[in-house]
Amino acid sequence: MSIVNHWIDGKIYESKSGRTAPVYDPALGIESKRVALANKTEIDAAIAAAKNAFRPWADTSLAKRQQIVFAFRELLNSRKNELAEIITSEHGKVLSDALGEITRGQEVVEFAVGIPHLMKGFYTENASSGVDVYSTRQPLGVVGIISPFNFPAMVPMWFFPIAIAAGNTVVIKPSEKDPSASIWIAKLWKEAGLPDGVFNVLNGDKESVDGLLDSPDVSSISFVGSTPIAKYIYEKASQSGKRVQALGGAKNHMLVLPDADLDLVADSAINAGFGSAGERCMAISVVVAVEPVADKLIPKITERMDKLVTGDGRRSCDMGPLVTKEHRDKVASYIDIAQKDGAKVVVDGRNVKPNGEANGFWLGPTLIDNVPTTSKVYQEEIFGPVLSIVRVKSYEEGVKLINSGAFGNGTAIFTNDGGAARRFQYEIEVGMVGINVPIPVPVAYYSFGGWKQSLFGDTKAHGVEGVHFFTKGKAITSRWLDPSHGGINLGFPQN
Ligand code: NAD
Repeated sequence: MSIVNHWIDGKIYESKSGRTAPVYDPALGIESKRVALANKTEIDAAIAAAKNAFRPWADTSLAKRQQIVFAFRELLNSRKNELAEIITSEHGKVLSDALGEITRGQEVVEFAVGIPHLMKGFYTENASSGVDVYSTRQPLGVVGIISPFNFPAMVPMWFFPIAIAAGNTVVIKPSEKDPSASIWIAKLWKEAGLPDGVFNVLNGDKESVDGLLDSPDVSSISFVGSTPIAKYIYEKASQSGKRVQALGGAKNHMLVLPDADLDLVADSAINAGFGSAGERCMAISVVVAVEPVADKLIPKITERMDKLVTGDGRRSCDMGPLVTKEHRDKVASYIDIAQKDGAKVVVDGRNVKPNGEANGFWLGPTLIDNVPTTSKVYQEEIFGPVLSIVRVKSYEEGVKLINSGAFGNGTAIFTNDGGAARRFQYEIEVGMVGINVPIPVPVAYYSFGGWKQSLFGDTKAHGVEGVHFFTKGKAITSRWLDPSHGGINLGFPQN
């Protein structure tokens, strides 16, 4: 069985830890390879490679760094089908969706190509007589990135293009469920001309994560994953004085007002609820239907669900399997809970007939109506193709419900009333808001991140906030007069 190893200092580093974890092909339901789990020596080697590469890379001109990021973008764009196939074979999402995540990640690479502009500081002439003040931004050093299974290419690309362009060096710890995308990306960086040691891939589990958190040579941590782990990362990294941005879980609602275009709503609910088998942090998992919407909307949704094909993402299907059998079973268990809690299972994904191998980790699209807000089905992040409907009497009740949730990643309102939409965008306590747009993932030049339990730390991913996260500001006050002309003055200068 092949082993996915590490990538350290510009080459494959064969693990000697003796510890591995399974990597599955979810549509076949088989273990297709194993991934190395790093030990201390390997963790130290990855961090040391990044540390050694830092000074020369930070000292490389902006023009040269920009050229390398541009070359990486060109290679990625021309070879993204290869990467999509890797993603589908380990994550399970259909090929078109894998290509979609690469495209969204590539947008951040394109944003990072503009790094000379993004790194510009300010200059104030004559702030005091003969004194100029200006600011610069400098890279942090070695930056750690810890990523989740659901976007093995896009989520790392929220961070590393900007980190690298800004002059940092990277150690990325991908999800052990789908580690190969990061190794493919590392090889592409080398082809693009990135010096060895600037981009390192450390495969592993908690031990590797803790190794990055504990190392005094790692300056910052960018984490994306479930809320309990995000909280742990945020607390541990900030205690040791690192910069940290830790993006956590989600439970995203879509509020549907009676005046909305219900065909658009049904299409959007399907796309946002079942795309990537619901394994998206911006998936819609609850439709909050203001009465009398639900009875009209449900037939439109079920009619569309009937046409969805669940199956092997390499075939012509709409939705792939879940990432592991364990996760599939956990998601399916929420359907039992819904039934016990008195909700109505309108479409039961456990009965799906997949276009794929019998042993694949299948669960078809599931629709549950009248979900009580006291049920775990409503309260917990399910992270699978389960769409709940909660009925409310008014806009106000819907907003109150959404605002009382623990998470605040994404939300959407569907309406034709501009006033209601404007009120919603103002009142809703969620970090990313869609108006008649179900998955409001901001473009690369804005920043991605939620509120409350969906983001720990105050800096979001990419956009200007991403540039600030990966750089330190410096303010310089400068005078070129002969100091002896100034005479002695113990106070601050006043003119
Ligand atoms: P996860 O939290 O299980 O794993 C994320 C990373 O943390 C992985 O690299 C994993 O190896 C590591 N990890 C796991 N357990 C750990 C532990 N005990 N100590 C230290 N490190 C540990 O998340 P996942 O299942 O891979 O991804 C799904 C989750 O990620 C969902 O909750 C989803 O909402 C969230 N997510 C959030 C966003 C966002 O932008 N907010 C984006 C994508 C995914």
